[in-house]
Amino acid sequence: MSAAMERYEAVIGLEVHAQLLTDSKLFCGCSTRFGASPNTQVCPVCLGMPGVLPALNEKAVLYAIKMALSVDCTVNRKSVFARKNYFYPDLPKGYQISQYDEPLAKEGSLEIDAGEGKKRVGITRVHMEEDAGKLLHGEGPAEEGFSFVDLNRTGVALIEIVSEPDIRTPDEAVAYLKSLRDILVYLEICDGNMQEGSLRCDGNVSIRPFGEAKLGVKAELKNMNSFKFLKDALAYEINRQTELVIGGKRVIQETRLFDPATGATRPMRTKEAAHDYRYFPEPDLLPLVVTEEEVEDLRKTLPELPARKKERFEKEYSISPYDSGVLVSSKRLADFYEQTVKRFNEPKTVANWVMGDFLRLLNENSKDVSESPVTPGKLAKLLSMIKEGAISGKIAKEVFEEMFKTGKDADAIVKGGGLTQISDEGELAGIVEGVIGKNPSEVEKYRAGKTNLLGFFVGEVMKLTKGRANPQLVSELIKKRLG
Ligand code: ADP
Ligand code: MG
Ligand code: ZN
Repeated sequence: MSAAMERYEAVIGLEVHAQLLTDSKLFCGCSTRFGASPNTQVCPVCLGMPGVLPALNEKAVLYAIKMALSVDCTVNRKSVFARKNYFYPDLPKGYQISQYDEPLAKEGSLEIDAGEGKKRVGITRVHMEEDAGKLLHGEGPAEEGFSFVDLNRTGVALIEIVSEPDIRTPDEAVAYLKSLRDILVYLEICDGNMQEGSLRCDGNVSIRPFGEAKLGVKAELKNMNSFKFLKDALAYEINRQTELVIGGKRVIQETRLFDPATGATRPMRTKEAAHDYRYFPEPDLLPLVVTEEEVEDLRKTLPELPARKKERFEKEYSISPYDSGVLVSSKRLADFYEQTVKRFNEPKTVANWVMGDFLRLLNENSKDVSESPVTPGKLAKLLSMIKEGAISGKIAKEVFEEMFKTGKDADAIVKGGGLTQISDEGELAGIVEGVIGKNPSEVEKYRAGKTNLLGFFVGEVMKLTKGRANPQLVSELIKKRLG
């Protein structure tokens, strides 16, 4: 980066759209299932036929309030749905029902950790709105040049979370979006799937000289659907704007699209001002009124959120911040871990198994924690068997694989497969005798002082017993026999 460029800092604010996990849409009973054939989940309400009446989905409101409370927002006693008017082929009504000057909630914040210490990002507002449909651009020979519209998504419940322009780097933007996603998923109100579009993000970026208080003119980057695209698009855009300004040109306010293929952003349209949408209150819906009591009741149902859980794990279980971060990365994994520790109280050992073999097998089998054949109780039993010396750590790994495949208990596998550790002195002494008899020259060297050959003898016994011998006992027996 040139010296001139280093004089500028980036200012970033994100608008994040999250699809709520309600079974039906925001204002009608149509299903929200992903992946259905195009235009099979539509009705007169979401198609915007004249004369129909929208009816607000209560569950969507509860979900939206939970999110608002989780980012420390104040929930407004009264909020108002408004029509945002614009023409687009995926919006048959000609307007989107959203919330405008009286949103559901306002003035919250979120703590993020982008590797350089913690930092608070202000949340301007959380509001509810309906999604638009999806345009599909034909590719096959018969479809080339045609565009199609799928209205299944039209009317699906969204919340929009708008941040203050408090973010300064692409890494911070990614950390912020990750934290938001973790919370949404913990609350079980959004699946957080960016590829399927359940979580999308618009990035607003401007630059200004360090020390300048006034905001620069921003560009808005539309609908980024992966963390990597968000990071790359912001980095490209910061660079583009800085070069413009250094070259004596001006940034213009516009909406831009990121093209992952080229890594560049390009103009999509010059940005509309709010008055172009001619917002007005939706005449078919009453204002949304929530009481203090309803809000407080919901607050009580909030789960422990990831950031808090991570800190508690570090303290309560004396595990590293890294381990803690991995374990709380999903609520189900965190629960699995805690349930196991409850039954086998060695937090570090449990962490190693959960983060190691357990996560590996889940990944290899594309399984979620909830689909795991190994339960916390079963893992705890296995760990107790290692501790009691019934099986070696090495055998335990094989037993665990078998448990994961079959769902059987560790002791059943161990008994059935003859995998128990051999700790019987008489039996081991016989095997040791055999090894000594077969290796006279090593015995001679050992007796002449090359005692590090002990490892060799133990290894031979382990080989003969397929790893089942108790290695400590074996090494004692050998020392006694040769010493
Ligand atoms: P718009 O009406 O264009 O959507 P808003 O004022 O509603 O703009 O802000 C949208 C998002 O853009 C917010 O996240 C806000 O923090 C961010 N933002 C606003 N102004 C700037 C700016 N000059 N530079 C970077 N981000 C900005
Ligand atoms: Mg905007
Ligand atoms: Zn419908």
